[in-house]
Amino acid sequence: MPDCSNIFEKFADELGPVKTVHVYDPRTGTKGIVVIDNVARGPAIGGVRLALDIDTEEVIRLARTMTLKNAAAGLPHGGGKAGIIGDPHTGDKETLLRSFARKIRELTDYIPGPDMGTDEECMGYIHDEIGRCIGKPRSLGGIPLDEIGATGYGLSRVAGLALPFAGISVEGATLAVQGFGNVGRHAAAFLARQGVRLIAASDTSGTIRRDEGLDVDTLIQVKKEEGSVLAYPGGSKMAKEEIFTISCDIFIPAAQPDVITAENVDAFRIKVVLEGANIPITEEAERILHDRGVLCIPDFIANAGGVICAAVEHRGGSEKHAFELIREKLEQTTRELLSAIDREKLYPRKAAMRMAVDRVKAAMALRR
Ligand code: NAD
Repeated sequence: MPDCSNIFEKFADELGPVKTVHVYDPRTGTKGIVVIDNVARGPAIGGVRLALDIDTEEVIRLARTMTLKNAAAGLPHGGGKAGIIGDPHTGDKETLLRSFARKIRELTDYIPGPDMGTDEECMGYIHDEIGRCIGKPRSLGGIPLDEIGATGYGLSRVAGLALPFAGISVEGATLAVQGFGNVGRHAAAFLARQGVRLIAASDTSGTIRRDEGLDVDTLIQVKKEEGSVLAYPGGSKMAKEEIFTISCDIFIPAAQPDVITAENVDAFRIKVVLEGANIPITEEAERILHDRGVLCIPDFIANAGGVICAAVEHRGGSEKHAFELIREKLEQTTRELLSAIDREKLYPRKAAMRMAVDRVKAAMALRR
């Protein structure tokens, strides 16, 4: 029996997590972790991350982010998350996903969705096994949220309010994006349509930089065809960490957790951070940035486009409705957040936490 006392000491609080489950299928070797953080507002929605380095602590932290995200956006859902330990680039994904799905059949309070390493095809396998998931392919009546760029669209709506608040005009603002995947590439594309200039983007292979602006459609195309942003014709090629040193108006971390920390925060010369990834900045680094006049919009506000889309899909709504609701809800929560920062001089995370936690507690008060 593993010693869980450390996990309880570190993470159990007034909201959750209410369930932390490890699953193992000896037949296929599938190892997975599921955390249901809080279900007071409704069944927990959260992605299934397929990665070699995922662990219980990370899944617990990500599940909490989902609780806050669903609550801040006013959705009738709680927060959960899952991790499958495996290489997203090799092996038989179908067997892995089907085996994982069968193991979580009884966890009916958890509705899986796509996350890093998984996509709508993976959701198709889960749906086939347990009939419960979001982010399904269109052929199964789903809304493929990564294909349509739900989260990237949401980030662009948040930017529309956050930039003027920080004294920056959207038209002509410069942008650097870490991680050019489902979140990063769509955020860059939607922002480019609003007149923002993408000057740098990175992925695991490196950073591409062009101060005159990268053509977003070309970059998306080369990343799709060659698998790397470095295949972009022109621009300068740099190491992936160099994205942190680019001087620009907007920085969107859209890759991994904990990329900006107290140790590297001094390298950043940016004005606004829109947290596209979940938990990309430690709280200490967020405070340091805020004290230096950098506006950070916390993950569970900025990247909620995906869960809003998921909630629409769960109720059988259309893609058009999903985009309308993302816009309406994200503009509303961003206005609320900016107003609390402005009036009460709160750190953005503190203001955002209060908004979300109050909503979760109000729901908990009505539950047994
Ligand atoms: P993805 O796998 O499609 O893309 C991730 C990208 O990050 C890839 O381009 C990869 O090469 C790059 N990357 C990984 N490590 C890197 C590193 N060290 N430096 C530079 N680039 C690196 O994943 P995604 O769906 O875009 O998700 C990205 C993040 O956003 C995750 O934290 C995820 O939880 C979060 N998120 C995703 C959604 C969504 O709708 N997909 C919604 C909310 C939050």
